[in-house]
Amino acid sequence: MTMMRNIFLLLLPVYASALEVELPTANHALYSPSGEEQFFQGTAGHDWHSGQYGSVRSGGRQFHEGIDVRFLERDRRGEPKDRVVAIADGEVAYLAAIAGQSSYGRYALLRHRWNEVEVFSLYAHVASFAPGLRAGQTVKRGDWIAMLGHSGTQNIPKERSHLHFEVCFQLKRDFATWFAPKLAKGDRNDHANYNGINLQGIDPAPIFLAAHEKPSMNFREHMESQPIAFTALFPARRAPLSFMRAQQWCIVNGPEPAPVTAYEVWFMAVGVPTFVRPRTDVTMPSARVLSVNEPAVNACPARRMVERDAKRRGWQFTHRGAELMEMLSFQ
Ligand SMILES: [Zn+2]
Repeated sequence: MTMMRNIFLLLLPVYASALEVELPTANHALYSPSGEEQFFQGTAGHDWHSGQYGSVRSGGRQFHEGIDVRFLERDRRGEPKDRVVAIADGEVAYLAAIAGQSSYGRYALLRHRWNEVEVFSLYAHVASFAPGLRAGQTVKRGDWIAMLGHSGTQNIPKERSHLHFEVCFQLKRDFATWFAPKLAKGDRNDHANYNGINLQGIDPAPIFLAAHEKPSMNFREHMESQPIAFTALFPARRAPLSFMRAQQWCIVNGPEPAPVTAYEVWFMAVGVPTFVRPRTDVTMPSARVLSVNEPAVNACPARRMVERDAKRRGWQFTHRGAELMEMLSFQ
């Protein structure tokens, strides 16, 4: 699979501009040798590892979609004094001002375009936003956007205040339309198209480290180098159009001379597509698993999208995976 991918990469144009990012608070211990303990805030009773991204909680069964950054300073009342800054140039996509409406608490979401890739950064559990900050506003890297805090629907003690930080993808621009019929009676989708279900995080730490160590780091290349966990085929009429429109970079090959009958989509283990190829040679009634890279799937046990079927003859989507396919292909 890697070799096939490299062949495709040769056909892609090279985007030379480098990614310029900085860490979201003054805590820069991530860049120090053995600085992890000073950088990541672990969960109650657990060490710094549980503040990392991934299947790091409840013995690997619970997924942490971002990183938890420790605070550095507090005031006389014990409240953190750390400023939260924009990690890169972008615009304010959304501000969730009511702390009780999400386990993220009060959070800010910034939209960026890095080497053709549309990506978001999310800053959660904050105490307050910077004065005057509003949705639609452009921000520059390093601009003050919020104060680190401990807001959320679960009680986070102030001594465990942290910034929950994500780099994430919006899976579907029109998520709220798909989600509305799925809401239980009396439930609301307060955050509309910025609902957490529609924002899939990838690991931010390697992005900061790569950009720090390699000033020419290119985010598109970073995405293209991510391990592929599984590939899926979508019938053409159920293509993941919303994602494809937002992320043209991941589509290879132009319009085919023959009618496109299907789309082959390559996914990271957590369900972010990184590659879409139109196909003219296959048809199927609904999305199905095409191939699986088992070690990559097993490396992410808390976000399993595919599983062996009962007779171990092949692979099928898990409930979570099937729901993701349905969501991506909803027109
Ligand atoms: Zn967190």
